[in-house]
Amino acid sequence: MELYDHLIGSFPYKRFSIVENFLPTGYSMPTYTLLGQEVVRLPFIPETSLGHEVLHQWFGNLVYIDYAKGNWAEGLTTFLADLLYQEEKGRGVEYRKESLINYQSYVNEKNEFPLKDFRERRDYASEAIGYGKALMVFQMLKKMVGEERFYESIRYFTEENRFRKASWEDICRAFEKISQKNLDLFFSQWIDREGLPDLHLEEVKVKPSGAEFEVAFTVIQKGKVFILDLPVVVYSSLGKATNVFHLQREKEEFKMVVGGVPDRIVVDEGYDVARMLSLNEFPPVIARLIGDEKRVIVLPPSGAEIYEQVVDVWKGKGASLSDWDRIKYIEPGTSGLLILGADNPVVAKLYGSVTARGGFSVLIKENPWNRWKVVGIFNARSKKEVDAAFQKIFHYGKYSAVSFDHGVNTYKEIDQSTRGITEELLKETISVEIRTLKTLSDVMAHVAGKKIIYVGETHYLFPDHVMELEIIIDLHKRGRPIAIGMEMFQRPFQKVLDDYIGGKIGEAEFLRGTEYFKRWGFDYHLYRPILLYARSEKIPVIALNIPQEIVDQVFRSGLDSLSEKEKKSIPAQMDFSDEAYKQRLRKVFLEHRDIENIKTGNFDFFYQAQILWDETMAESVDQFLRTHPNDQMVVLAGSGHLTYGSGIPKRVARRNGYDHAILLNNVDLKREIADFVLFPEAIPGVTSPMLMVFLKEEAGKVEIAGFPQNSLSEKAGMKVGDIIVTIDRTPIHTIDDVKIDLLARKKGEKVKVRALRKGLLGSKEMDFDVVLQ
Ligand SMILES: [Zn+2]
Repeated sequence: MELYDHLIGSFPYKRFSIVENFLPTGYSMPTYTLLGQEVVRLPFIPETSLGHEVLHQWFGNLVYIDYAKGNWAEGLTTFLADLLYQEEKGRGVEYRKESLINYQSYVNEKNEFPLKDFRERRDYASEAIGYGKALMVFQMLKKMVGEERFYESIRYFTEENRFRKASWEDICRAFEKISQKNLDLFFSQWIDREGLPDLHLEEVKVKPSGAEFEVAFTVIQKGKVFILDLPVVVYSSLGKATNVFHLQREKEEFKMVVGGVPDRIVVDEGYDVARMLSLNEFPPVIARLIGDEKRVIVLPPSGAEIYEQVVDVWKGKGASLSDWDRIKYIEPGTSGLLILGADNPVVAKLYGSVTARGGFSVLIKENPWNRWKVVGIFNARSKKEVDAAFQKIFHYGKYSAVSFDHGVNTYKEIDQSTRGITEELLKETISVEIRTLKTLSDVMAHVAGKKIIYVGETHYLFPDHVMELEIIIDLHKRGRPIAIGMEMFQRPFQKVLDDYIGGKIGEAEFLRGTEYFKRWGFDYHLYRPILLYARSEKIPVIALNIPQEIVDQVFRSGLDSLSEKEKKSIPAQMDFSDEAYKQRLRKVFLEHRDIENIKTGNFDFFYQAQILWDETMAESVDQFLRTHPNDQMVVLAGSGHLTYGSGIPKRVARRNGYDHAILLNNVDLKREIADFVLFPEAIPGVTSPMLMVFLKEEAGKVEIAGFPQNSLSEKAGMKVGDIIVTIDRTPIHTIDDVKIDLLARKKGEKVKVRALRKGLLGSKEMDFDVVLQ
C-alpha cells in the first residue's frame, strides 16, 4: 500500500481486509480481497497475488472499468504489480519474455482479438492477451515517454477518473497530456488492432568504417506492419553499443557504427516490444502443447492403461488417438504429439532415447521435423503416480520438463533459448600457443585410457591412414585388448572380415567377399597396412556400416519407404534433434546441389540417410562393446561423422555412456570440433597402377566401356567392346579380379592383356602389351 500510495496516489479507502474464501477466487472488492483459502496459505502469495489484488483497489475499485471499451485494468495491474515485483528481483526481462511465450503458445488466428475486446480472462488465450499483451503495451509506453512521465501520467489518469468508468481512451488522453505527444497511432495500433508484429533480422553485414566497423542489417515485418521503436544492441570487443530504431515499414535497412570488432547483434534483448518470438527464443514448453489446436496422443505398444487420466483429459480437449506404429519417420508436425511412455518406440524414432525422472514426468521437445511444433513425452511408474500429478501440469505451462513423486513436484526446468533476436557477426580470433604444441605420443598418453578413440580421416589421404596405423600400434602395445571399427566395411560382411583376420582366407578372397571395390572403392593401398597389421596381431576388425543399398534407398525416398523387413534391420534408436548438425548437413547438401543425385534429392531424405548411417555405425560400436566389455575400440571414419561428436560419438555415448576421445586430421581449428586435431607429415602413398580403361561387368565377363584421355591401353590397340579374358594369364571374370590383380603391380610395369573381340566372322582372342599408368 505504501508503494502504491507513493507511485499512484494515496490509498482510496480507510481499511483493507484479506478475506479467505472456500472457493478458489482472486477477487478485489472495495476495501477487501477475497482469496481462496488454499491460496492464502501459500508462502509466495504476499509478494505475488496479494500485491496484485491490493493494486486493484486503485485500478478497478477507485477507477472503474468501462468494460464495453475493453478492460485495461488487468494489464496495468499486472504491469505495476507482478512485473514490478519480478523486476525488483532482477527477473523483469524473463517475466516479459514469459508473457510473450504464453502469447505465442496460446493465441492463434482463430482465438485472437484486439485489447479493446478484452473483458475478463476466460481461457489461456484471453489471459495471454488481456494480461500479457496489455502489460507489454504499458512497457512500450514507459519506454516511449520515460519512467518519470509514465508515473506522472498514471497518477493523472487515476486522479482524473476517481469513481468513474475509464477506458483506454482515457489512458491515452492522460499520457498525451503529460507527454505532449500525439499517441493516437500508438493506441489504435496496439489497442484496436489484433496480433503482434513478426520481426525478422536479415542481410546482416559487417564492414570496416574508418577505425570502426559498420554493421548493416535489414528488419523485415511479416504479416501486418507495425510502427514501433526497436532497441538493437551490438556487442563488440570494446563492449556494447545500443541504439533504438524507429521501424515503420515492411522492410527497412539500418546501420550502426561501433568501435571494436563486432561479434553479435541482438534485437530487443530486453523484451521491450510486444512481438512474436523468433524460433531460437521460443523454448519448447508445456504451454505450447496446451495451446496447440491439433494434438495426437501416441499410445505405447503396451501399458497404456496407467495413462488413462492423461488420455481422458486430452481427449476431452479434442486430441485424437494413434497407435505408436502409425507414426511415420518424418512426422510432419501438423499436430502436437503426446507420446505416452519414454520407452515408446516413437521416442526412439525421433530422439534416440530420453531420460525420464521421478514417478510421473513430462518432457517437452521440439519436433525435429517442424521446430514450431512440440512433442510431449509423458512417462509414469504407475497409474497412482499419474493420478496424483497429472492435473498439476497445467500450472507448469512455462516449463520444458517437470517431474513429480506422489504428486509432489521434484524437478522443473525451462530449456535454454536465446535472449532477443540474435545473429553472430565476427567470431573472436582463435589461437594456439605454439609452445604447448603436442606430438602424437603426447596425445596418445592423454587418450590411451579412453574406452573409445575416434580417428577421423579424409579417405583418399595417405598420411591420415599412416597415422591411424600409428595410433593402433601405440594402443595395441599398451597391452589392453583392442578392436578396430571401420566405416569402410558393411555389417553383412563381418564374417568375411573375421575369416581374413583369423587367417582362414587370403586377401583376394577377403576383398571379393566384402565387395570392397564395389562398396567402398577407395584404393585399397590406403587401408591395406592397417588390415595387414590387424591380421598379423589378430586384432578384431568390426564392420560398422549399413549396406549401401539401404542408405541409397533412404536417400532417394526416405526411411518410410523401406520395407518392413528393412525397417527391422535398421537401428530402433535414431536421434534427429541435433539442430546444429542438421544445419551443417544442410550446408553440405546445398553445396552439392550440382551433383546430379543430390539435385533430385530432398533434404529431409538426405538428412535421414545421414542419421541412419551415423546411428548404424554407433549401434555397431555399442553392440561390439556390449559383447566385449573389456575391449577398447579405435573407430576409423570420415571426419564428417566425427566433428563436434555429432555423427557417431554422441550417438554411441547416448547408448552406453563410455568415455571417448575424438582425433581429427588436418581440419580447421574450431572450438569443440574435436579433442585433438593432428597434422601428420606428408608422405607419398602407394597406389595401384591403372589400365586406363572404363569397365563394365556382366554375366562373368568384363567389357571395356571406354577410355579416359591418353590411355596407353587404347594406344596399344584395345577397343570399346573388347572383353578382357586374362591379364598375364590370370583369368578375369569380374572387375574385382582386375583390381585385385593390379593391387600387386606397379606403375610402368608391362602386362599382357588377352581380350576377346567380336568381328564379322565371329570372335577372336587378341593379345595386347599394355604399360600400366
Ligand atoms: Zn487482476
